[in-house]
Amino acid sequence: MTDQRHADLAALLGWYRAMGADEALSQSPIDWLARGEQGPGCSFALTGPAKPPAASAAPVSTPPRPHAATPVLPPGAPQRPFAAVPADAALMGARSAARAAQSLQELEITLAGFDGCSLKATAKNLCFYRGAPRSSLMLIGEAPGRDEDLEGKPFVGRAGQLLDKMLAAIGLSEADVHITNIVYWRPPGNRTPTPQEAQVCRPFLERQIELVAPKVIALLGGAAAKHLLDVTEGIMRIRGKERAILIGAHSAKAMATLHPAYLLRTPAAKRLAWRDLMAVQALLRG
Ligand code: URA
Repeated sequence: MTDQRHADLAALLGWYRAMGADEALSQSPIDWLARGEQGPGCSFALTGPAKPPAASAAPVSTPPRPHAATPVLPPGAPQRPFAAVPADAALMGARSAARAAQSLQELEITLAGFDGCSLKATAKNLCFYRGAPRSSLMLIGEAPGRDEDLEGKPFVGRAGQLLDKMLAAIGLSEADVHITNIVYWRPPGNRTPTPQEAQVCRPFLERQIELVAPKVIALLGGAAAKHLLDVTEGIMRIRGKERAILIGAHSAKAMATLHPAYLLRTPAAKRLAWRDLMAVQALLRG
């Protein structure tokens, strides 16, 4: 292969990676264009009338579409044992399942069997939490990324390493805090979770907060802050301000701050995050 061809291929792979296509799922490529209107995800189909998601669902096959030009997936392509659930039924199922969990262990088992969040279809692992089961400080981020998906734990990649350093700067380690996200599965291509995806995970997050019982909740980044504080302003406006919040049956002090991934891209913003961290420390002491 010529140097130029090698460089072109490397550039093409780099572009795929930047667009979120960073995993080889099958030996043979899928010609999505030949599928007509059958977009990605259409191989997940309802198996019956709407009902709350059960602990597990049987594998489903795709109903044939009259205009399908080719089979939906090539032979041998991975099929996930996952059935799509209508949004309302999923939310109802999430609420009753989350409410029944009496411990974090039970909550994790319930989450692992929950099929109401479509992110589960493309994720490798459930990312529940890392750190202490009960803690005075809970940190909530946006969504697992690639490293988190592979390891099944939140904030274990570069952003997580920076977060650990920031916590160490105020004398805290993983054993002192509880770290999680507003959704429990990695969104494809690391996109921001949709409001529906965050909403269906919310009953689990609320129960998690009740069980962890934190005094202070630090919201990492705009997505987590907007979702939990129910505000629409940008993170630069809402960060660094103390707020009282009631989540589920638990009240706590909350503070939004900048996401560690943003700090990696924008080192100059670290001074703002440092200020927020000092304020979080003051809330913990107060
Ligand atoms: N970013 C997040 O918001 N959460 C993680 O777990 C990792 C990166």
